[in-house]
Amino acid sequence: MKRKCHIDDNVRALGEIFRQAGHELYLVGGAVRDWLLGLENDDWDFTTDALPEEVMALFPRRCIPTGIGHGTVTVRFRGRSYEVTTFRSEGSYSDGRHPDSVTFVRSLESDLERRDFTINAFAANTSDGIIIDLHNGMRDLKDHVVRAIGDPEERFREDALRMLRACRFASRLDFTLDEATEAAATKLSGNIRLISAERIREELFKLLMGRNPVRGLELMRRTGLLAHVLPELMDCYGVEQVGRHHEDVYHHCLTTLEMARRHSYPLIVRVAALLHDVAKPRCLKVETDGTTSFHGHDRLGGEMVDAIMRRLKSSNEERELASLLVREHMFNYTDEWSDGAVRRFIRRVGAQNIEPLIQLRIADAQAMDPSCRLDGLWAFEERMKGEIGRKVPLSVKDLAVDGNDLMALGIPRGPMLGKVLSAILEAVLDDEGLNSPEVLSDLALRKWKELS
Ligand code: ATP
Ligand code: MG
Repeated sequence: MKRKCHIDDNVRALGEIFRQAGHELYLVGGAVRDWLLGLENDDWDFTTDALPEEVMALFPRRCIPTGIGHGTVTVRFRGRSYEVTTFRSEGSYSDGRHPDSVTFVRSLESDLERRDFTINAFAANTSDGIIIDLHNGMRDLKDHVVRAIGDPEERFREDALRMLRACRFASRLDFTLDEATEAAATKLSGNIRLISAERIREELFKLLMGRNPVRGLELMRRTGLLAHVLPELMDCYGVEQVGRHHEDVYHHCLTTLEMARRHSYPLIVRVAALLHDVAKPRCLKVETDGTTSFHGHDRLGGEMVDAIMRRLKSSNEERELASLLVREHMFNYTDEWSDGAVRRFIRRVGAQNIEPLIQLRIADAQAMDPSCRLDGLWAFEERMKGEIGRKVPLSVKDLAVDGNDLMALGIPRGPMLGKVLSAILEAVLDDEGLNSPEVLSDLALRKWKELS
């Protein structure tokens, strides 16, 4: 029986315009795969025999030549954008990442052949939805297998990123890798160095957001990709922790990531979960009683994560958050903390980072002991939220006086002004009742004398 993919009215109407001009339009790639699996996918890709300029001519003023060199045109149609790529086949790949040339072809068969995995090579006709499966993708979907199309070694030599994509789809769909595909990746994993950091990061982050990221990372480790992409994490493999932990550092990191996944925590919390103990091998000390300790692994870990995110060319925002979470993950809250101590903590971490930091600690704690009590962490979060909700002064800009006020009192502009502001903030963090212009002016003059 022929399987059909649902084609909505807009897509059918889009296809009709191509057909009237004597062309074909197919839905391809992830959208068809995910439809067959009953998964959501809003990323729709189309392929056609029409040449890019022919597509542009069909939709005058409604096209953006997004990747015209590769044959991709974005068509605006009924308020939506559709990426349409001309059937193509690729020439040889002498650099292991880009085809030397792209040839537009008139057959769907050659277009499907150049795709990476059997489960990514379906095409659905936009008139009747009938799915074309020339590479036995249905069988692999049923068996939950990621399998390269054709000779896996050849496919990975053409484009080394495909090895990482294989791990990404294994995670995303919770599939295994076909044996020959895994063997080829193991043989060629070193070629991943040919791939740009941006493309690696994109696949790695998608892997972390998948259904089974531990499976994806274990595949990366076994094939050797992990040693290239995250050597710092690979160094944690087999580093035993004697004491509270039941796993070595590497496995504890993966389990922490798995806990973050179970809670559906966001990407950067997952990145931090995976890397939170990455400095442990460098901070390892064996104590006289035989237990291990890792003093300073949080601070050094924060620096290492900063460097890793820089290497992956992550945005500043993502890099700073991941690094901060790792640096601050060892806080030791007890209900004896004073309000001032709680406010100082919020000030150091930043109000907006409290939630992800608590999430990281929950994942970390549950990785050590899935049935551990989390009351302390909840109570801490509640207390911090309470302080933030009351809008207590937490930074210099929340003070009832500013630099100009202090200069009007005679305190000179320059480093002294900053020191005095910090000193009065310290006092206000302990006692918010001090935050009035009169009290703070007096206090500022006293602090100035003390500090001069
Ligand atoms: P997602 O739902 O995560 O977007 P996807 O399968 O659509 O998954 P994309 O990266 O968007 O993945 O790629 C779209 C399609 O293009 C793939 O399904 C595959 O057919 C093809 N493709 C993408 N990258 C490659 C590659 N490096 N080599 C060969 N084919 C590729
Ligand atoms: Mg896609």
